[in-house]
Amino acid sequence: MSFDLNSLLRAHILRLQPYTSARDEYTGKEGIFLDANENPFGSITSADYNRYPDPYQSALKEEIAKIKGVRSTQIFLGNGSDEAIDLLYRAFCNPGKDNVILLPPTYGMYEVSANINDVEIRKVSLTSDFQLQPDKILAAADDHSKILFICSPNNPSANKMKREDILFLLEKFPGLVVVDEAYIDFSDEPSFTTELDRFPNLLVMQTFSKAWGLASLRLGMAFGSKELIRILNKIKPPYNISGLTQETVLAAIQDKKKVDRMIQEILSERDFLQNQLEKLPFVQKIHPSHANFLLVQVPQANRVYDDLIKEKVIVRNRAKVLLCEDCLRITVGTRAENEAFLEAFRKVCS
Ligand SMILES: *Cc1c(COP(=O)(O)O)cnc(C)c1O
Repeated sequence: MSFDLNSLLRAHILRLQPYTSARDEYTGKEGIFLDANENPFGSITSADYNRYPDPYQSALKEEIAKIKGVRSTQIFLGNGSDEAIDLLYRAFCNPGKDNVILLPPTYGMYEVSANINDVEIRKVSLTSDFQLQPDKILAAADDHSKILFICSPNNPSANKMKREDILFLLEKFPGLVVVDEAYIDFSDEPSFTTELDRFPNLLVMQTFSKAWGLASLRLGMAFGSKELIRILNKIKPPYNISGLTQETVLAAIQDKKKVDRMIQEILSERDFLQNQLEKLPFVQKIHPSHANFLLVQVPQANRVYDDLIKEKVIVRNRAKVLLCEDCLRITVGTRAENEAFLEAFRKVCS
């Protein structure tokens, strides 16, 4: 496939001379380090954090590469997936000139980040069963369409997109195709990382925030060609992942089995929640889920949402979102949390 990444890139980013940190200029580990204006005595805390962390997170990427089946040069790590989204806009989208294609209903950050970066948004809605409309997407695109964001499994609709539709768009879309797989661990769908060598215009995003239970650390992953990853590295803030995060995740990654156990438990709780909800006469629809949440339609969702809050149960109100009229998005909790939710839900809906 012919694809010229540099011609997609903003000209000033192509020319950009990136910041070189002290750790870029001297990469040895031994010596007396008087090059980064750090505190030589240690830290105010009992553990020491006085030295700047590895700006490229090499040790961590080696381990992520192993579990994800990619090369470490194909990995970008960001302060949450949101950082990767923002960097993509800044690298590829000229304000007032370029556009991106978004597929509502979907994750809100693609739109917010476009607005922050003053980039035109073209929306092509999903179908009523939340699938892609590939021909309409291509019809909406032009030479200035730099990025297409596909979220699969999708937030908030919980379904996965048809694989052949994504492959078709990877072949035909003129710009980058981002496949956001934040919820892939809860799906039986294989990751699009297996397609990286076939499609230089593909960027796959995943996160440590959901299945890994590390939302507070802020660590997002993006997988792409080494050329594309090099661009993101070139424009990122030098030390975007803290040393504490790098060390913590490096240690945690050895315990992949624990993640798999948590995923299995969340999936069985999702089944439990779904079965219980199916028994409730006021529930109009439970959308099929490949994620760790259920999108559920009830009459008067706004009122139900407010009444649930009075019962101290907080769900996400999606009632105003396109194609999600009267829907609440309910994250799968522990058994005790799910039962407490169900009790409150029955009470406010009866
Ligand atoms: C939760 C979520 C993310 C993860 O964002 P982080 O910044 O990594 O926490 C990304 N995409 C979607 C669609 C999400 O729902």
